[in-house]
Formats: sequence, structure tokens, C-alpha cells
Amino acid sequence: MLPNPFEFDPCNSIHLLLDFSNKVLKKTSKTYVHECWNYRCCYCGSQKDLTIDHLRPLAKGGTNDISNLASAWQKCNLSKGNKKLEDWYKHQSFFLEERLEKIQKWSGEN
Ligand SMILES: [Zn+2]
Repeated sequence: MLPNPFEFDPCNSIHLLLDFSNKVLKKTSKTYVHECWNYRCCYCGSQKDLTIDHLRPLAKGGTNDISNLASAWQKCNLSKGNKKLEDWYKHQSFFLEERLEKIQKWSGEN
């Protein structure tokens, strides 16, 4: 079921379902994801070397749905790897409950 776009707030935008395997859309989706996260790492807020992180890793059943994607500093992305987001994040020095809530709201897992 699609979330109500108007109840959705990380970037006050319509929640789009994009096919991340499509090359044109892939570029658009990446930009869209970074815009939604204000070009900052969703975990630590860094603006360095942003990558697209799969909140729930593909290896753990995550999808390419935009709700499973967020901007993440390459270092955070690598450090998180295939670990469960909450388990990994809560052990980081930059952990912020507020950011975790935002991530969970975005991914629809709360
Ligand atoms: Zn980070």
C-alpha cells in the first residue's frame, strides 16, 4: 500500500516509487533522494562523499523502493554494511534519536 503523500515529511514531497533499475530514473532518483535528505548523511549529518544507502540492505530483503533509500556518507554506508540499521546506528557516537525517527518515518518502519 502506498503511504499518503501528504502525511509524509522528510522533504514534503510526493512519495514516488521509482524503478531504480532504469538508468535514466536511477540518476533522477539519486538526486531526488539527496534533495530529500538535504544533501546530508541521514545518520551523522555529514555533507562529505554522499552515497545512496539502502536502509534495509538488499541482502536482507530490502528493496530499491525510494522509501528504502537515503543519503549516507560513504564512511557510514561502509561501516553499516549489511547490519541492521537500528543495531548499528545506536552504537555510533553520532547517534541521534531524532535522526533515527526521521529515517523510520521515511522508510515506514516504526
Ligand atoms: Zn554519516
